[in-house]
Amino acid sequence: MCTFNGILSEYPWISIDSFLEANCQVSRVFFVSHIHTDHLRGLDESTFYQYTTNNPSIRIYCSESSRHFLSILPAYKHLSKFYSIINVNQPLTIQNPTDKNVSLTVTCFGSGHCPGSLMLLFEGSHGTVLYTGDFRLYSHQSNRHRIILSKKPIDTLYIDMTFFEPSIRQLPQRKQSCQKLIHLIEQYDNRYFHLKTSARVGYEYIYTSLYHHFGILIHVNHEQYHLYDCLPQVQQALTTDGSRTRIHACWPNCSHSKFSIKIVLSVLWFTLQQQSNCPLIRIATDYYRLCYSLHSSYNEICTFVKQISPIRIHPIALPSQLTSERFNELIKQLGIHQNQTNCFASNNIVQQIKRRYQMTENTDIDDDDELDFGFHKNRDNNEKQLYKRISNLQQPSNKNEDLTYQ
Ligand SMILES: [Zn+2]
Ligand SMILES: [Zn+2]
Repeated sequence: MCTFNGILSEYPWISIDSFLEANCQVSRVFFVSHIHTDHLRGLDESTFYQYTTNNPSIRIYCSESSRHFLSILPAYKHLSKFYSIINVNQPLTIQNPTDKNVSLTVTCFGSGHCPGSLMLLFEGSHGTVLYTGDFRLYSHQSNRHRIILSKKPIDTLYIDMTFFEPSIRQLPQRKQSCQKLIHLIEQYDNRYFHLKTSARVGYEYIYTSLYHHFGILIHVNHEQYHLYDCLPQVQQALTTDGSRTRIHACWPNCSHSKFSIKIVLSVLWFTLQQQSNCPLIRIATDYYRLCYSLHSSYNEICTFVKQISPIRIHPIALPSQLTSERFNELIKQLGIHQNQTNCFASNNIVQQIKRRYQMTENTDIDDDDELDFGFHKNRDNNEKQLYKRISNLQQPSNKNEDLTYQ
């Protein structure tokens, strides 16, 4: 659940991953950490377009891959001339356009979440700030942390804590999930498979692993295929011709995948069912779920926070059921002493869940890697879970059995 309005409180002239009216009122320089829809809030809206018309010198910094993606996606390509590339590990000095005496240095690092996803390190007169964006770093991937730690100590860490919940201590690594998937496909060498993904990008490891293991291309639609024009090593694993393959990740489903074994790639379902240790679960005949997480587990978040050792933490995403008291208690165990309350406006969270649920109802596609509602046949069950979560939020003292912390 998103808990950050995009404005850096240390440097309000900078907004990250949010392009709403409130951001336009105070910020002059923008960043996109990665291209999942929940990190592009307002970028496709007329308010932001109007803002760029009135301020033609504004910049939207992002990685090279993100710039490519944004420049071809219909909702965002009209802003092409405003996207500027920021290269990994190459410090860049940025001036505040409204006050030439104010500047800071920004350095970016890969965040292990999806192609082009960035962490951003800001160094200026109001402190050193690290913004992780969505991230997945395994506990042993400490060399990236060392690069960050070789710089100044971090004052504020804006961090993705989507799975900051002790019952989600571990999540399968991408390699483990992929091996389970390969093993399943090996058991049915005459059958067709359909992979149901829930985000625009982030499944490239699966595509390339399946291609290298089976020598079979994966069917995707044209838009998805051309998204990877900038990543030929991914694109070579894909095809736009559904008749050429028995492995499909197409949306909408093509006629060739009609009688396929369906595999839904998701995480939230596993965490709600307290099954996050299982990479693959059979739900029904020809219907499986694969746990595939683009976000760090609780243990991975804890390792990262301890290594960075910031003075303050500002979560950019949290589990929806987490209370401020519980959050403060958990971060105290990580050596962070602060009382965080501003991220826990429960009404706001309820509205977010409802709005995102309505969005999936209206469009029949969940372009988000954090909430997935699966196929039509599970809608009733999903709805029950959703309202269970909402009622849990409205009565924080009345703990729900399924969501109780352990
Ligand atoms: Zn994301
Ligand atoms: Zn297909």
